[in-house]
Amino acid sequence: MDTSFKNLHVAILSSPGMGHLIPALVLANRLAAQHSVNVTVLLVTTAVSPPESKLLQIPLHRDLVRVVELPPVDISHLVVPTTQVVAQLCVMVREALPLIRSAIAAMDRRPDAVIADLFCTETAAIAAELGMAKYLYVPSTAWFTALTVYCQVLDREIEGQYVDQPEPLKIPGCKPVRPEDVVEPMLDRNELQHDEYVNLGKRYSLFDGILLNTWEDLEHETLQAFRENETLRSIIEIPVYPIGPLRRPVEPVDVKSDLLGWLDRQPNESVIFVSFGSGGVLSAEQITELAWGLELSQQRFVWVVRPPTKGSVDDAFFNLGTDFDGTPNYLPEGFIKRTQNKGLLIPMWGPQAQILSHQAIGGFMSHCGWNSTLESITSDVPIIAWPLYAEQRLNATFLAEEVGVALRPRVLPTKEVVRREEIESLVRRLMEHKEGQEMRDKVKKMKISAMEGLKNGGPSYKSMCELLSKIAVRKGNMNGLVG
Ligand code: UDP
Repeated sequence: MDTSFKNLHVAILSSPGMGHLIPALVLANRLAAQHSVNVTVLLVTTAVSPPESKLLQIPLHRDLVRVVELPPVDISHLVVPTTQVVAQLCVMVREALPLIRSAIAAMDRRPDAVIADLFCTETAAIAAELGMAKYLYVPSTAWFTALTVYCQVLDREIEGQYVDQPEPLKIPGCKPVRPEDVVEPMLDRNELQHDEYVNLGKRYSLFDGILLNTWEDLEHETLQAFRENETLRSIIEIPVYPIGPLRRPVEPVDVKSDLLGWLDRQPNESVIFVSFGSGGVLSAEQITELAWGLELSQQRFVWVVRPPTKGSVDDAFFNLGTDFDGTPNYLPEGFIKRTQNKGLLIPMWGPQAQILSHQAIGGFMSHCGWNSTLESITSDVPIIAWPLYAEQRLNATFLAEEVGVALRPRVLPTKEVVRREEIESLVRRLMEHKEGQEMRDKVKKMKISAMEGLKNGGPSYKSMCELLSKIAVRKGNMNGLVG
């Protein structure tokens, strides 16, 4: 199979938000480095989206990857303070459609294909109009993708709120979804973002295929459902391409930072890393309980701390600043002093990929965003699952119940405050007990299977080649027609 596609030019479209931009850049690098594809990444930006400069520090394959930040869209007249994240993202991308179209139309070399992220589904029409192949990139699980696609049926068939259903929600050929685990926009069907989400799922079938940041071994059953389950295929018939796990690289550091110096001095696998993703924030009460839980556990920790949320978690998704104003006075009195030999606090934002890959890290308390999950798995680190928003409840259930590499609190942290005693026990179980060690061993095995898949000839590698071959054949046919 030909694995070099140097004649191809692909445009990747990314919606705002770190969790969307990072996988777009990582995919771009992968296409360039492994398959010699030319890639233009188009970033939809807004005045309030997080600082892209931080992301652009991800070393890009400069010869072949070009990043174009589209002019910021202003949606202030289209949303109100309570408009939720998914609705906002859909509005942002909708507003950016003319910008996306003109950016592509103005390119010297028209892309052969568009790869749009899951919030950029409305760009299918632009791709069709401009004669490009069109693929969708869901940088998450096949299970989440199946739920998104099937939500249009659930919407027709189920009355009342999903969260009030007595039985798990059935998705053909896939593991059912517990009502409490539904994704954020399914939590309240009266919200605009529910309808936006249903429509996103409906538009998936306008694409020529879906790239998924998962791999065959991890989600074989669900991937098979997309390929073979007749009920699911009656809704979406396009091929799925499991091309993962794609994750950001660990950036090499020239100078040893205090943080890495500190980690270097800790025993192997003895530190728990605590961080809740790009937009995760906790209530004041939860922060207090977490601080006490960590202290009581007597385990070493590195914690990316952020001030307590004043509004909803949604507020933080776009507005998380990187500044940190002084001492974190929202932590319990004396906490910093008492834990100074055991723990390290990082204000607002830490070099997560680096931290997780350090040999001192033995556990990760995580919100289970899919990027974080992959970074954890590929760093041999088991998880305490602390889902907050988006599809994180699904991810947490998948990791704890299907894959067996995560512990989780008895109740969802979005429903109830997790108390210090439970946190202490979770941290001890992960870091000190046999149970935690077994999960660590399991993660190590998973990582090996994941890495095998990515290698030349592995299933994820082949999946990417198959996709690129289709684009190349189409390009050949088009050229034949033109010629
Ligand atoms: N991240 C980071 N430092 C932080 C918080 C997050 O580098 O302090 C990165 C993390 O490594 C991951 C991304 O931000 O690549 C978060 O993506 P994820 O899908 O886990 O979650 P979300 O964007 O939904 O929070």
